[in-house]
Amino acid sequence: MAVEAIMSTYNRLSVAFERGEGSWLYDTDGNKYLDALCGIAVCGLGHSHPAVTHAICDQASNVIHTSNLYTIPNQQQLAERLTQISGMDNVFFGNSGAEANEAAIKLARRYGHAVKKVENPTIIVMENSFHGRTMATLSATGNRSAQAGFEPLVSGFVRAPYDDVDAIKAIAENNPNVVAILVEPIQGESGIQIPAPDYLNKLRDICDENEWLLMLDEVQSGNGRSGKYFAYQHNDILPDVVTTAKGLGNGVPIGACLARGTAAKILIAGTHGSTYGGNPLSCAAALAVVNTIMDENLCERATELGNKIVAGFEEQIGHADYVKEIRNKGLLIAIELTEAGTELAVLSKVKGILLNVTGGGKVVRMLPPLT
Ligand SMILES: *Cc1c(COP(=O)(O)O)cnc(C)c1O
Repeated sequence: MAVEAIMSTYNRLSVAFERGEGSWLYDTDGNKYLDALCGIAVCGLGHSHPAVTHAICDQASNVIHTSNLYTIPNQQQLAERLTQISGMDNVFFGNSGAEANEAAIKLARRYGHAVKKVENPTIIVMENSFHGRTMATLSATGNRSAQAGFEPLVSGFVRAPYDDVDAIKAIAENNPNVVAILVEPIQGESGIQIPAPDYLNKLRDICDENEWLLMLDEVQSGNGRSGKYFAYQHNDILPDVVTTAKGLGNGVPIGACLARGTAAKILIAGTHGSTYGGNPLSCAAALAVVNTIMDENLCERATELGNKIVAGFEEQIGHADYVKEIRNKGLLIAIELTEAGTELAVLSKVKGILLNVTGGGKVVRMLPPLT
């Protein structure tokens, strides 16, 4: 049997798209699909958004890449815009969500050694979390199937159930090596799991009491999707570190690790880096994205659209015996089924809608564009 030229790390559906416009994608046979997935929460402004397209073309015709050995004016501008919006002090730019989280994990370890004087700095991570596919981020991820076969895992993580404050308090009493908590404000890959409204406030208090860093993974929930630019802004708190990626570049790879206070002083020259990270092309795209989200009030629009879509689902299928729960925070939308429904991704494609089934095959996940 011939070996495929692409490693089979993904089970792909047999459809290829050649054009996108707004919420619509067109396949190579000319069929039209309503895109309720956005390339997995990436194309928050929809496809071929003119502001992003213009920014990319303009930047590409001037200069695409220079390296971080030189000043990059639009990287500076993007950092200033993101820190203004988030209440954080500074930013490290990488190229993906995993890289943003790698930066956060490295930051926490250096904080542990330099500030907490701990020999084996340990980070609390959650069950059913997802933080990426690099060795450190898959070790932080709370999903055995993502880790199986890749041992030895990176050490220095201790796991707690999600949305369980008492479990964190118990760790605080028993583990003097803890220096940080890494948590998603809303768990995406495990099926849009939304914690108690004051969960992050309580985690903030525990982190303050113990001088731990509160590190929020907003790779999926950030960039307007939850109804605020960052999901923690629903809670009126500030984390010490926040990571984001997916929706930041609308498809141009970029990731960001933002830090505040003491955490903002940890990663200094020589401690971390990236050749591509924050290059002129990706920053031009991300600046266009951030400005569009803010100028066009797309955070509010995410709340309006999300609630409208969910009200429609409730009316049409809310009482169906195969539906366990319909839930959302902005445009992070889930229909939890009573039984696995993995085939729905294929069936909906036939009907012309793109969505995704996650959370052990029981959660239909929709992440439509904010527009
Ligand atoms: C997708 C995702 C990641 C990983 O991002 P990549 O760009 O695929 O590396 C990390 N954390 C969360 C919460 C995600 O949803």
